[in-house]
Amino acid sequence: MLFLIGTKDSNVKNGSIKNEKCPKCGIENTLNFSIFRRYVFITMIPLFPVGKTVNIECKSCKNIFYYEDLTLDGQEKLRNEKLESSIWMFSGTILLLLFLVYFANNYIQNKDDLTILIKEPTVGDVYNLKFSNGYYSTFKIDKITSDSVFTTHNDFDAYMPYEVDDLDKTENYSNKKVSYSKKELMQLYQNGEILKIRHKNYSLEAE
Ligand SMILES: [Zn+2]
Repeated sequence: MLFLIGTKDSNVKNGSIKNEKCPKCGIENTLNFSIFRRYVFITMIPLFPVGKTVNIECKSCKNIFYYEDLTLDGQEKLRNEKLESSIWMFSGTILLLLFLVYFANNYIQNKDDLTILIKEPTVGDVYNLKFSNGYYSTFKIDKITSDSVFTTHNDFDAYMPYEVDDLDKTENYSNKKVSYSKKELMQLYQNGEILKIRHKNYSLEAE
């Protein structure tokens, strides 16, 4: 996905500066102003405002002026113009925050689910493992008793964590029978050696 970042100006107020003379032609009540708010956007979505600009034009002589061209009195009048809040300019930031909250929530939820799953192993579940020697592999749960879990380990190891899912083929579970007490299984999880549990309907990953 391509992200485009930039700034845009949004016209937030137009009006005329009362009792102020044009610096050029000297006629009073001829200065029109347009105030713009500048905001940062990312791919069309506004993130936050970064400042203001103003255009000033004389109705009479059509000259364009900068803020600095006005008398101090005129500058103050312009500064005192009330601008409506532009909350929409923060919409991208608000969206980002909502996403963050959502993902943080999901992460915590996922972690809890995994802890529950470890406590209630099911026959047929596949566990992705990280061994202390740095290799990755899987085991499948064959049988569960009140205090133990009987598994068949995968015949193969992987070097990389992302390769390990590919090892999960029926023919790869032949004769490496290993049993764990439920306590040992919990210990493996707490040591970070269980990376993922695949149940027949869903899978959960540890972080
Ligand atoms: Zn003028």
